[in-house]
Amino acid sequence: MTAPATLTVDLNALAANYRTLEAVGGVPVHPVVKADAYGLGAEACARRLAAEGARTFFVARTREGERLRAALGAGPAIYVLDGCLAGRAGRVRDAALRPVLNTGEQLAEWTAAGGGACGVQIDTGMNRLGFRPGDAPGPFPGLDLVLSHLACADDPAEPMNARQRDAFAAAAERYPGTVRSFANSGGIFLGRDYGFDASRPGICLYGGGPEGRPDARIRPVATLAAEVLQVREVPAGDSVGYSRGFIAEAPRRIATVAAGYADGVLRSYSPRGLVWVGGSLQPIVGRVSMDVCAVDVTGLEVAVGDTAELFGANRMLDDAAATAGTVAWELLTSVGPRVLRRYLG
Ligand SMILES: *Cc1c(COP(=O)(O)O)cnc(C)c1O
Repeated sequence: MTAPATLTVDLNALAANYRTLEAVGGVPVHPVVKADAYGLGAEACARRLAAEGARTFFVARTREGERLRAALGAGPAIYVLDGCLAGRAGRVRDAALRPVLNTGEQLAEWTAAGGGACGVQIDTGMNRLGFRPGDAPGPFPGLDLVLSHLACADDPAEPMNARQRDAFAAAAERYPGTVRSFANSGGIFLGRDYGFDASRPGICLYGGGPEGRPDARIRPVATLAAEVLQVREVPAGDSVGYSRGFIAEAPRRIATVAAGYADGVLRSYSPRGLVWVGGSLQPIVGRVSMDVCAVDVTGLEVAVGDTAELFGANRMLDDAAATAGTVAWELLTSVGPRVLRRYLG
């Protein structure tokens, strides 16, 4: 290892997930690489996805789009989900980005700046971004994509999914010949009738399951690992870490691991988090601190310099997120900037 805490990104697994999502959905995948590709590194991930055939990408912010354009060069279409904020049209155009317009104000801003290739978001019930179907603009020059977003795609039993799908199909009839993009990761697995013309997955590309739990069809992509800095024998009655968060009722062997909440080991792992170390899953004990966490390795041959895995092939991302009381999306995007990103493939 070249740093105490490392996020290893398996680009071959990323590519495999991309192909799986195209096969399952039956339509082209337009990868979502917002938030630095969910923390994995937008530049490296988007380059590999482009090499696999991806021609269209989504980011959230204009600034993310500018960076992605610099990384990918001219060619791929890059849509900005924020749309075109007041005074921002010049930057969007300069980087040849395509805003996903969400409001009449955004449409006016984009048109006043000369317009050009762009998308429109229809709000089919999430009440987050986009035009209500009744307020959506008619077709206009430059419009080349219409999208909507599912609120409950990770729950196939949720009746809202079909309602949103039908509302989207109806709204999109207004834009004949325009590419229709509907399904995120979860949506791809809801059935081919959720596919429309192109999908927009994020989390399943990066190794999360479509329903918030591990799925055999999705390969792990990211591994967060850290070195053991010190191993100590803690006598009965002693405590470990801040606020005496753990009290040893019997003698324990404790490994201090070089990853804390500044690295993405959420404080909410206390007291249920598990770490793969010494060939088994072992409990995080006491409070996670900023730079380190303590792991109970009683009875194991664990030594300084050994590697502990917070998530990866031995500790599935979705399971790790569940014990931290969160979701894979938040866990990945919480991996801090000081963690070294390393790429395989
Ligand atoms: C983040 C996002 C996605 C990707 O969602 P996943 O659940 O990660 O696949 C797709 N579309 C929109 C509008 C988003 O904001």
